[in-house]
Amino acid sequence: MTLARTLALFGVRCLLVERNPSTTRHPKMDITNGRSMELFRRLGVADKLRAVAVPEENCFDVSWVTSLAVEHGGRELHRFRYPSAAEKRIEIRNRNDGTQPREPAMRVSQVMIEPVLREAILHHPFVEARWSVGFEDFVQDGEGVTATLRHSKTGVTEQVRCDYLAGCDGGSSLVRDKLGIALEGKAAVSHRYMIHFQSDARELLQAFGVAWHYQTDKGTLIAQDDKDTWTLQTRPPSDVVPDTIDPNPLLDAWAGRAFPRKILVANPWFTHLLLAERYGQGRVFLAGDAAHQYIPTGGYGMNTGIGDAIDLGWKLASAVKGFALPGLLASYERERQPVGLRNRAASGRHTDVRIKIGELYQKERDPDALGRGIAALGNAENESWGIEFGYRYDGVEGDPLVYAPTTAPGARLPSIFLRDGSALYDKLGPWFTLLRFGDADPSPLIDSAPAPLETVIVDDPALAATYEAKLVLVRPDTHVAWRGNACPDGAAVWRRVLNGELT
Ligand SMILES: Cc1cc2nc3c(=O)[nH]c(=O)nc-3n(C[C@H](O)[C@H](O)[C@H](O)COP(=O)(O)OP(=O)(O)OC[C@H]3O[C@@H](n4cnc5c(N)ncnc54)[C@H](O)[C@@H]3O)c2cc1C
Repeated sequence: MTLARTLALFGVRCLLVERNPSTTRHPKMDITNGRSMELFRRLGVADKLRAVAVPEENCFDVSWVTSLAVEHGGRELHRFRYPSAAEKRIEIRNRNDGTQPREPAMRVSQVMIEPVLREAILHHPFVEARWSVGFEDFVQDGEGVTATLRHSKTGVTEQVRCDYLAGCDGGSSLVRDKLGIALEGKAAVSHRYMIHFQSDARELLQAFGVAWHYQTDKGTLIAQDDKDTWTLQTRPPSDVVPDTIDPNPLLDAWAGRAFPRKILVANPWFTHLLLAERYGQGRVFLAGDAAHQYIPTGGYGMNTGIGDAIDLGWKLASAVKGFALPGLLASYERERQPVGLRNRAASGRHTDVRIKIGELYQKERDPDALGRGIAALGNAENESWGIEFGYRYDGVEGDPLVYAPTTAPGARLPSIFLRDGSALYDKLGPWFTLLRFGDADPSPLIDSAPAPLETVIVDDPALAATYEAKLVLVRPDTHVAWRGNACPDGAAVWRRVLNGELT
């Protein structure tokens, strides 16, 4: 849906098919990180998403507990405190040094987010979105792709001809299978059990105050709205056939006592650490979970998929509009696969920390010492700004924990607020933007631009240092394409940029 929205905004028609009749009932993701929110803002959906998310005033605290039943000795061991989105907005304004995102992160489940994305494409004149229609097969040739679709209700098949095909069809991607692309890494790392439920028992479920996550060595309780909707991710009992598990005793055992609830969905599932060996072939591409699957620690699954969709979206649109050079589409895999690999490694590292904390629970009898041990192991899964904002397309890895602002080509453009209080990010055009600081001559790039280009003059010498050059050419995905203090040959820069090269 993100890719469809991206293509539509670039004026490219597309057809989206989804085999299910509706969006998901499974909560799955619960954090949309600040980088995804910046990108959603560019797609014009950030406010609509926030309207269905946890209120901006609510915190992102992660709290480790023994159990929630205080009357049975349950206690809080350590709380990692994180500001609410509203507090983060103030911090972003106050620390206007390029280290901050344009948007804070957002707490929301996939049950809430998907209908908003669906609404954002459903009535768009450039998107034809069909639910209850499955993709079955494709053949590609030099000019395009012929896809076979099957209507889930009638079984009727049809063929459609398109220029390109993107398999955004999840972990068991049929498009990936048909391409014969293998997954490398570790499948079925661990067995989990998800219980999504409603309950008003806040005296128990918020026993130590509002928290985003309450965690023990047996799992995580996610507060989906800080009111009445919750998700427990725990381990299934090893002695019960997965399909016959009763979620109720699992909930009671985890919380520390029985409480009233209505279970919405419950099912076993496996975590994976997998990466597709290729991100496409010819005119067919993979994005999202079709290309990578992670353990949810860190919340990188969907967030990485959003990055894929934006990267692929502007490149496909450039190809359809006719100004992409042959290397541009090939650069999708070159740029996004290393990010997929880096995020998979980070997700694995965060899981290792959780395992170490689990071991501490078994070893340490003194709750104060246990709390100190947890604090010392830390919570990098919610503090890895280098992973979330510092991914670069020039091969430079950077510190996973720290986002260091830079305009090196391939890096995300740093975000700042201008003297008049407006955000530079909000001044970027939908396609390319040339930022001009100081007296550099932008005309070689403007005069030779084969793609839509807007120029933003930043008349603030104090900000020029953050942007490291007098001219910065920004791509549609807000990554830097090129920078310099002068541009003698604009046409040469464009040839490289539209061929997917970083200069
Ligand atoms: C417990 C859990 C917690 C998570 N937490 C987070 C988090 O906090 N942050 C985060 O970023 N990510 C998180 N994730 C990961 C996130 O849910 C996934 O990465 C995300 O859903 C992937 O999106 P996708 O569109 O690529 O694939 P999917 O969401 O799997 O969507 C693929 C769609 O394709 C459809 N489809 C499949 N095959 C076909 C076909 N042949 N024809 C037509 N349609 C088809 C499917 O029905 C499905 O709707 C979590 C995941 C889990 C399980």
